[in-house]
Amino acid sequence: MEHTYNLGSRRPTRQVKVGELQIGSDSPIVVQSMTNVFTHDIDRCAAQINKMTENGCELVRLAVPRAEDTAALPEILRQVSVPIVADVHFHFERALEAIDAGVAKIRLNPGNIKDRGEVERVIAACKDKGVAIRVGVNQGSVVERRDLQVRAREKEQDLSILMVDKLRGYVEIFQDNHFDSLILSAKCHDAARCIQVNRAVSAEFDYPLHLGLTHAGDSQTGAVRSATALGTLLAEGIGDTMRVSLAGDPMTEIEAAWEILNSLGLRKRRKPELIACPTCGRTEIDLIGMVGKVKKALEEIKEPIKVAVMGCVVNGPGEADDADVALCGGKNKVVIYRQGEKVATVAAEKAVETLLEQVRLSCRQK
Ligand code: SF4
Repeated sequence: MEHTYNLGSRRPTRQVKVGELQIGSDSPIVVQSMTNVFTHDIDRCAAQINKMTENGCELVRLAVPRAEDTAALPEILRQVSVPIVADVHFHFERALEAIDAGVAKIRLNPGNIKDRGEVERVIAACKDKGVAIRVGVNQGSVVERRDLQVRAREKEQDLSILMVDKLRGYVEIFQDNHFDSLILSAKCHDAARCIQVNRAVSAEFDYPLHLGLTHAGDSQTGAVRSATALGTLLAEGIGDTMRVSLAGDPMTEIEAAWEILNSLGLRKRRKPELIACPTCGRTEIDLIGMVGKVKKALEEIKEPIKVAVMGCVVNGPGEADDADVALCGGKNKVVIYRQGEKVATVAAEKAVETLLEQVRLSCRQK
């Protein structure tokens, strides 16, 4: 059973083409992530990108700190199907090499490429090849500047204002060069500031916005912080592409990003959604064990089916009404529902098997 939620409309922006993707305005919010292996380790890097794509990543960024990384790009691009973003810091040459290799987008930090002429050479090359650029400001880069003037202003002004000021300065370089394929980002490590600064950026600029936190943390803390910040902004119609930055496997980032979009009803993936009660003193079946087994079995299913595994009759029948297939526990037995209708009562040992039979039946009928 699919629900859509009316969260209000998306903020209108320009649309920017990134490979085959359109980012901005009414285009679907794009899920992106970043590789965490050396780019010059070609086979490993391409394998990770392909795994990320299979897991729902629509745009993949990779770091190109050395010439050997950009030299690896043509072969990597040959092995993958998703648009690639080259992440460039300090060396504008890496951007030029990546553009030549055929990347779809460059992530550029004009703050660490000091010579404006070098930034303008990158802009010209992107214009020539139809490559988009993300330009962003990070909370850290504002705070850590050893610029006494900025330090003094920082005391007087809110950090968000400083970040928007800095971003405005960057944007002017692109506007002076009549470059429109621009995506903006303003990243912070705390959720409240991320919300505040992105609201300010979206109020001032009509370029698409890339949402994300910097250094969000380990997978649990980081996912909660990201869901708080990105979820709030997305619910307000702000944000056109997103990365959930988590320490560890990029697949966890991709899963978290989709979970946020799915929870808000902004995008649906062709995969099952599992609802489970937290268990309490009323639970008389091994619900946690059942949830683990059901979750594993659902990994094989590619239908957007909603499955509920509930401990008792307090909330079970209500969730069953809302799910395609549900299990509701009793004393050593369970009741199975399909499309809100009771279809079987079985012993607890048969619960998972019977539930999954009904899941398959429901998938065939979709
Ligand atoms: S559904 Fe029942 S068992 Fe599960 S948490 Fe609620 S009251 Fe407890």
